[in-house]
Amino acid sequence: MSKHYDLIIIGTGSGNSIPGVENHHKSIAIVEKGRFGGTCLNVGCIPTKMFVYAAEVARTIKEAEKFGISAKIEHIDWPSIVSRVFDKRVDPIADGGEEYRRGPKTPNIDVYDQHARFVGPKTILTGQGEKEVEITGDEIVIATGARPFIPDTISDSGVEYYTNENIMRIPELPSSMIVYGGGYIAMEFAHMFDALGVEVKIVNRSEKLLRHLDSEVSDAFTELTKKTMETHLGSNIASAAQSDAGVEVTLENGTKVEGELLLVATGRTRNGDQMDLDKAGIEMDGSRIKVDEYGRTSVEGIWALGDVSSPYQLKHVANAEMRAIKHNLEHPEDLQKLPHEHVPAAVFTNPQIATVGLTEDEAREQGLDITVKVQRYGDVAYGWAMEDDSSFAKIIADKHSKQILGAHFMGPQASTLIQQIITAMNFGIDAERLAKDEYWIHPALPELSENALLGLDFS
Ligand SMILES: Cc1cc2nc3c(=O)[nH]c(=O)nc-3n(C[C@H](O)[C@H](O)[C@H](O)COP(=O)(O)OP(=O)(O)OC[C@H]3O[C@@H](n4cnc5c(N)ncnc54)[C@H](O)[C@@H]3O)c2cc1C
Repeated sequence: MSKHYDLIIIGTGSGNSIPGVENHHKSIAIVEKGRFGGTCLNVGCIPTKMFVYAAEVARTIKEAEKFGISAKIEHIDWPSIVSRVFDKRVDPIADGGEEYRRGPKTPNIDVYDQHARFVGPKTILTGQGEKEVEITGDEIVIATGARPFIPDTISDSGVEYYTNENIMRIPELPSSMIVYGGGYIAMEFAHMFDALGVEVKIVNRSEKLLRHLDSEVSDAFTELTKKTMETHLGSNIASAAQSDAGVEVTLENGTKVEGELLLVATGRTRNGDQMDLDKAGIEMDGSRIKVDEYGRTSVEGIWALGDVSSPYQLKHVANAEMRAIKHNLEHPEDLQKLPHEHVPAAVFTNPQIATVGLTEDEAREQGLDITVKVQRYGDVAYGWAMEDDSSFAKIIADKHSKQILGAHFMGPQASTLIQQIITAMNFGIDAERLAKDEYWIHPALPELSENALLGLDFS
């Protein structure tokens, strides 16, 4: 069977937001081999942050003593935590999204649920259930995301392991867990399970955790994590085997680490490699589908967005790229660029981290004349209220233009606090104006940013 469409969208993460009322007149195929909603909704941002929130409630109870409050966790009801996330929130949204696309409100849309791969120019082989279908499209949007990368030492070992795709649905909490990786996904899970009482053992090839961040942040984060969790840094896993307790890994330095569960979070592989893109003439840029500034691939009429093609693997970037491509599909005479200026990111760890713009090292490598201020939470009034002695905000600005070049927050509410700085960077408000031309509520936590800005030396 074969069918032609005006538009084919492969992947229902950010891709699913493209069809709207403005293209009801078009015939559209949506191909999704997994759950509707993609990574962020089902196995990424949303469930992880819901678990992290529960973990932070647990951590607040554990740390209540320093505020003169005696409190103790009686019981962690893991099935109820899982149910709050999936039964009550995530799964109904995923199911509802698919029902909507298959239902009477979108009669112009067909949904296919099998893996899509190219078999010729603008020609895709997919299917619905058992039925194989070849579809062709005038326009095609590839939004197929990424999947967990599993090192050969683990996949070849035959050992049982978990990834972000199944760890959040385990039936009960293990007593201990090896977390393999030192990036943001590994660290968020480490924080979450540690707070819920699991003995977490981090194994990471690099000496540094979150090593892509500003080095002052990654150094401080690594030191803090070493104090709170068992860490094995600077040595990779050489082999893994099932053991009485669960899994035992042997590191290249000979150390053996055992845990009831092994969670692998060692990065993400983009899914373009599974789509026979060469059959359609679509070029790659390393592991990414090559796109120009408007999201066009090397083949006219084929677009790509999100993790599969973007230099950023972040949901807000995938969404922003989707909005640009949605516009470009309707307005080919007025193309919008994929917005890649001042892209912020947050890591929902303990402590929380948020970042935007250049790191100090990057700014110095570019030869920029900069001023840098590190402001500690413990030196502003709200930080006193929080008894904080480790958190900070770091702002980097150009000494001459006074424009903010980068900001890096590590501490409570980092992802919220940084938003003011992102606004200033986007609207070109310089550091001095931002600090002085508005009120900062006293004694609220944003005084941290105010003081950091006032501390920049423009003399
Ligand atoms: C654990 C975790 C936590 C995260 N937390 C955050 C966060 O806090 N903030 C943030 O900004 N980002 C976060 N991310 C990243 C974010 O989830 C991704 O950047 C975002 O979901 C990418 O969206 P996308 O539309 O490009 O792809 P996806 O959402 O991955 O959608 C791709 C879809 O395509 C389908 N598909 C793939 N190949 C095919 C094929 N050949 N045929 C048919 N269907 C196919 C997949 O099943 C999937 O549903 C997190 C990621 C993970 C893994």
